[in-house]
Amino acid sequence: MAGRQNRRGFAGFALSLSLSLSMLGFGALARDRQTEGHGLLQSGPVLAPLPPKRPTGLRPHVEPAQDSSSGQGGGGPSTCIRVFEENGGVVLPSAGGTSTGECAIEDPVTFQRVTIPDGSKIELDSAITVRCPFALEVIAWVRDDLTALMKRENSQLAKLAGVGGHACRARNGDAGAPISEHASGNALDVGGLLMQDGRALAFVGNESESRSIREAVQKSACQRFTTVLGPGADSSHKDHLHLDMRERPRGFRICQWTVE
Ligand SMILES: [Zn+2]
Repeated sequence: MAGRQNRRGFAGFALSLSLSLSMLGFGALARDRQTEGHGLLQSGPVLAPLPPKRPTGLRPHVEPAQDSSSGQGGGGPSTCIRVFEENGGVVLPSAGGTSTGECAIEDPVTFQRVTIPDGSKIELDSAITVRCPFALEVIAWVRDDLTALMKRENSQLAKLAGVGGHACRARNGDAGAPISEHASGNALDVGGLLMQDGRALAFVGNESESRSIREAVQKSACQRFTTVLGPGADSSHKDHLHLDMRERPRGFRICQWTVE
Protein backbone atom coordinates (compact mmCIF):
# COMPACT_ATOMS: atom_id res chain seq x y z
CA MET A 1 0.00 0.00 0.00
CA ALA A 2 3.00 2.22 -0.25
CA GLY A 3 2.19 5.78 -1.09
CA ARG A 4 -1.41 5.33 -2.03
CA GLN A 5 -4.75 4.51 -0.64
CA ASN A 6 -6.55 2.08 -2.84
CA ARG A 7 -9.47 0.74 -0.95
CA ARG A 8 -10.29 -1.87 -3.52
CA GLY A 9 -6.68 -2.90 -3.68
CA PHE A 10 -6.49 -3.18 0.06
CA ALA A 11 -9.70 -5.16 0.20
CA GLY A 12 -8.24 -7.57 -2.30
CA PHE A 13 -5.07 -7.71 -0.29
CA ALA A 14 -6.99 -8.44 2.88
CA LEU A 15 -9.09 -11.07 1.13
CA SER A 16 -6.07 -12.81 -0.27
CA LEU A 17 -4.66 -13.05 3.21
CA SER A 18 -7.77 -14.30 4.86
CA LEU A 19 -6.97 -17.95 4.32
CA SER A 20 -3.46 -17.75 5.66
CA LEU A 21 -4.66 -15.64 8.56
CA SER A 22 -7.30 -18.08 9.53
CA MET A 23 -4.72 -20.84 9.33
CA LEU A 24 -2.54 -18.85 11.67
CA GLY A 25 -5.42 -18.33 14.03
CA PHE A 26 -5.40 -14.52 13.95
CA GLY A 27 -9.17 -14.47 13.66
CA ALA A 28 -9.49 -16.60 16.70
CA LEU A 29 -7.11 -14.29 18.49
CA ALA A 30 -9.33 -11.32 17.93
CA ARG A 31 -12.33 -13.18 19.28
CA ASP A 32 -10.75 -15.18 22.01
CA ARG A 33 -7.91 -13.16 23.40
CA GLN A 34 -7.02 -13.53 27.03
CA THR A 35 -4.94 -11.06 28.97
CA GLU A 36 -1.79 -10.90 30.95
CA GLY A 37 -0.94 -13.90 33.02
CA HIS A 38 -0.44 -14.97 36.57
CA GLY A 39 2.72 -14.98 38.62
CA LEU A 40 4.49 -12.76 36.17
CA LEU A 41 7.47 -12.22 38.37
CA GLN A 42 7.86 -15.84 39.38
CA SER A 43 7.53 -17.98 36.29
CA GLY A 44 8.43 -18.19 32.67
CA PRO A 45 11.59 -17.51 30.80
CA VAL A 46 12.54 -14.01 31.76
CA LEU A 47 14.93 -13.30 28.96
CA ALA A 48 16.55 -10.28 30.43
CA PRO A 49 15.34 -7.48 32.65
CA LEU A 50 16.40 -4.69 30.37
CA PRO A 51 17.42 -1.27 31.60
CA PRO A 52 14.79 1.43 31.41
CA LYS A 53 14.64 3.07 28.05
CA ARG A 54 12.99 6.19 26.85
CA PRO A 55 13.29 5.63 23.15
CA THR A 56 10.55 7.47 21.40
CA GLY A 57 11.35 11.11 21.44
CA LEU A 58 7.63 11.45 20.95
CA ARG A 59 6.60 12.09 24.51
CA PRO A 60 4.99 15.44 25.05
CA HIS A 61 7.09 17.29 27.58
CA VAL A 62 4.14 18.73 29.42
CA GLU A 63 3.57 18.74 33.13
CA PRO A 64 0.08 17.36 33.75
CA ALA A 65 -0.87 20.31 35.93
CA GLN A 66 -0.04 22.69 33.12
CA ASP A 67 -1.86 20.75 30.45
CA SER A 68 -5.24 22.34 30.82
CA SER A 69 -6.46 20.79 27.58
CA SER A 70 -6.05 17.17 28.53
CA GLY A 71 -8.84 16.15 26.26
CA GLN A 72 -11.32 16.01 29.10
CA GLY A 73 -13.20 19.23 28.60
CA GLY A 74 -10.51 21.61 27.43
CA GLY A 75 -12.35 22.04 24.18
CA GLY A 76 -9.50 20.92 21.94
CA PRO A 77 -7.09 18.08 21.47
CA SER A 78 -4.61 17.50 24.25
CA THR A 79 -0.94 18.17 23.76
CA CYS A 80 -0.41 14.42 23.65
CA ILE A 81 -2.95 13.96 20.89
CA ARG A 82 -1.36 16.75 18.88
CA VAL A 83 1.99 14.98 19.20
CA PHE A 84 0.28 11.71 18.26
CA GLU A 85 -1.06 13.27 15.06
CA GLU A 86 2.20 15.00 14.24
CA ASN A 87 3.89 11.61 14.36
CA GLY A 88 1.55 9.83 12.03
CA GLY A 89 -1.29 8.74 14.25
CA VAL A 90 -4.72 9.11 12.65
CA VAL A 91 -7.30 9.90 15.32
CA LEU A 92 -10.80 8.45 15.00
CA PRO A 93 -13.91 9.60 16.84
CA SER A 94 -13.93 8.45 20.45
CA ALA A 95 -15.08 4.90 20.99
CA GLY A 96 -16.82 5.95 24.21
CA GLY A 97 -17.01 4.01 27.45
CA THR A 98 -13.67 5.29 28.63
CA SER A 99 -14.56 8.10 31.00
CA THR A 100 -16.01 6.60 34.17
CA GLY A 101 -15.32 3.98 36.80
CA GLU A 102 -12.20 1.96 37.42
CA CYS A 103 -11.80 1.39 33.71
CA ALA A 104 -11.62 5.06 32.82
CA ILE A 105 -8.84 6.16 30.50
CA GLU A 106 -7.18 9.49 30.98
CA ASP A 107 -6.69 11.29 27.68
CA PRO A 108 -7.91 8.43 25.46
CA VAL A 109 -7.24 8.20 21.76
CA THR A 110 -8.91 5.86 19.27
CA PHE A 111 -7.02 4.94 16.11
CA GLN A 112 -6.60 2.30 13.44
CA ARG A 113 -3.89 3.72 11.21
CA VAL A 114 -0.38 5.09 11.41
CA THR A 115 1.23 7.03 8.61
CA ILE A 116 4.96 6.37 8.39
CA PRO A 117 7.46 8.95 7.09
CA ASP A 118 7.49 7.61 3.50
CA GLY A 119 3.73 8.14 3.32
CA SER A 120 2.78 4.49 3.64
CA LYS A 121 -0.09 3.57 5.91
CA ILE A 122 0.21 0.85 8.51
CA GLU A 123 -3.20 -0.44 9.51
CA LEU A 124 -4.48 -2.16 12.62
CA ASP A 125 -7.07 -4.78 11.82
CA SER A 126 -9.47 -3.07 14.18
CA ALA A 127 -9.57 0.31 15.86
CA ILE A 128 -8.24 0.43 19.40
CA THR A 129 -8.60 2.92 22.21
CA VAL A 130 -5.71 3.47 24.62
CA ARG A 131 -4.20 6.20 26.78
CA CYS A 132 -2.60 8.75 24.57
CA PRO A 133 0.90 8.45 26.12
CA PHE A 134 0.72 4.70 25.50
CA ALA A 135 -0.48 5.35 21.95
CA LEU A 136 2.71 7.35 21.39
CA GLU A 137 4.74 4.28 22.30
CA VAL A 138 2.66 2.11 20.00
CA ILE A 139 3.05 4.35 16.97
CA ALA A 140 6.75 4.81 17.70
CA TRP A 141 7.12 1.03 17.80
CA VAL A 142 5.32 0.75 14.47
CA ARG A 143 6.99 3.72 12.77
CA ASP A 144 10.51 3.49 14.11
CA ASP A 145 11.06 -0.12 15.13
CA LEU A 146 8.87 -2.48 13.12
CA THR A 147 9.14 -0.56 9.88
CA ALA A 148 12.93 -0.50 10.06
CA LEU A 149 13.36 -4.14 10.96
CA MET A 150 10.98 -5.22 8.22
CA LYS A 151 13.01 -3.29 5.68
CA ARG A 152 16.13 -5.07 6.87
CA GLU A 153 14.30 -8.29 6.09
CA ASN A 154 13.45 -7.00 2.61
CA SER A 155 9.83 -6.71 3.53
CA GLN A 156 7.39 -3.94 4.25
CA LEU A 157 4.91 -3.88 7.08
CA ALA A 158 1.26 -3.44 6.10
CA LYS A 159 -0.87 -4.39 9.06
CA LEU A 160 -0.97 -5.45 12.70
CA ALA A 161 -3.42 -8.33 13.04
CA GLY A 162 -5.40 -9.51 16.03
CA VAL A 163 -5.04 -6.24 17.92
CA GLY A 164 -6.77 -5.32 21.15
CA GLY A 165 -6.59 -2.22 23.33
CA HIS A 166 -8.90 -0.94 26.05
CA ALA A 167 -10.90 -3.64 27.81
CA CYS A 168 -12.53 -3.36 31.21
CA ARG A 169 -11.46 -6.57 32.88
CA ALA A 170 -9.16 -8.20 35.37
CA ARG A 171 -5.98 -9.96 34.33
CA ASN A 172 -6.74 -13.12 32.38
CA GLY A 173 -10.40 -12.27 32.81
CA ASP A 174 -10.26 -13.82 36.31
CA ALA A 175 -12.62 -12.26 38.83
CA GLY A 176 -10.58 -11.21 41.83
CA ALA A 177 -7.36 -10.81 39.90
CA PRO A 178 -5.73 -7.41 39.74
CA ILE A 179 -7.16 -5.08 37.16
CA SER A 180 -5.58 -5.49 33.76
CA GLU A 181 -3.44 -2.83 32.17
CA HIS A 182 -5.97 -3.07 29.36
CA ALA A 183 -8.55 -1.53 31.70
CA SER A 184 -6.57 1.68 31.95
CA GLY A 185 -5.78 1.77 28.25
CA ASN A 186 -2.15 1.02 28.93
CA ALA A 187 -1.81 -2.22 26.95
CA LEU A 188 -1.86 -3.61 23.44
CA ASP A 189 -2.37 -7.16 22.20
CA VAL A 190 -1.04 -8.18 18.79
CA GLY A 191 -1.57 -11.51 17.09
CA GLY A 192 0.75 -11.16 14.12
CA LEU A 193 2.07 -8.96 11.35
CA LEU A 194 1.08 -8.80 7.70
CA MET A 195 3.49 -7.69 5.01
CA GLN A 196 2.71 -5.84 1.82
CA ASP A 197 3.92 -8.80 -0.22
CA GLY A 198 1.23 -10.96 1.35
CA ARG A 199 3.34 -12.77 3.88
CA ALA A 200 1.98 -13.18 7.38
CA LEU A 201 4.24 -13.36 10.41
CA ALA A 202 2.82 -15.24 13.36
CA PHE A 203 4.64 -14.86 16.67
CA VAL A 204 4.18 -18.49 17.56
CA GLY A 205 5.84 -21.33 15.68
CA ASN A 206 9.30 -22.38 14.63
CA GLU A 207 9.54 -21.63 10.93
CA SER A 208 13.23 -21.16 10.36
CA GLU A 209 12.81 -18.58 7.61
CA SER A 210 10.96 -16.19 9.88
CA ARG A 211 12.96 -16.75 13.04
CA SER A 212 15.22 -13.75 12.53
CA ILE A 213 12.19 -11.48 12.13
CA ARG A 214 10.56 -12.86 15.24
CA GLU A 215 13.79 -12.36 17.16
CA ALA A 216 14.01 -8.79 15.92
CA VAL A 217 10.39 -8.10 16.85
CA GLN A 218 11.02 -9.58 20.28
CA LYS A 219 14.06 -7.38 20.82
CA SER A 220 12.26 -4.24 19.73
CA ALA A 221 9.19 -5.00 21.84
CA CYS A 222 11.23 -5.72 24.96
CA GLN A 223 13.19 -2.50 24.54
CA ARG A 224 10.09 -0.43 23.94
CA PHE A 225 7.57 -1.82 26.43
CA THR A 226 8.00 -2.60 30.14
CA THR A 227 5.92 -5.78 29.85
CA VAL A 228 6.11 -8.25 26.97
CA LEU A 229 4.25 -11.54 27.31
CA GLY A 230 4.14 -13.94 24.40
CA PRO A 231 4.49 -17.61 23.49
CA GLY A 232 6.26 -19.38 26.31
CA ALA A 233 5.11 -16.95 29.00
CA ASP A 234 1.92 -18.74 30.00
CA SER A 235 -1.12 -20.41 28.51
CA SER A 236 -2.89 -17.10 28.02
CA HIS A 237 -0.22 -15.81 25.66
CA LYS A 238 0.65 -18.86 23.62
CA ASP A 239 -0.50 -17.24 20.39
CA HIS A 240 -0.18 -13.47 20.77
CA LEU A 241 1.84 -10.70 22.33
CA HIS A 242 0.71 -8.60 25.25
CA LEU A 243 2.56 -5.30 25.49
CA ASP A 244 2.14 -2.70 28.20
CA MET A 245 3.93 0.09 30.01
CA ARG A 246 3.27 -0.94 33.59
CA GLU A 247 5.68 0.78 35.94
CA ARG A 248 7.39 -1.35 38.58
CA PRO A 249 9.78 -0.67 41.42
CA ARG A 250 13.38 -0.10 40.37
CA GLY A 251 12.33 -0.02 36.74
CA PHE A 252 11.93 -3.80 36.58
CA ARG A 253 10.82 -5.01 33.18
CA ILE A 254 9.28 -8.29 32.03
CA CYS A 255 10.28 -9.83 28.72
CA GLN A 256 8.72 -13.27 28.45
CA TRP A 257 8.54 -14.47 24.90
CA THR A 258 10.36 -17.60 23.84
CA VAL A 259 11.19 -17.40 20.15
CA GLU A 260 11.53 -20.89 18.75
ZN1 LIG B 1 -3.11 -8.18 26.79
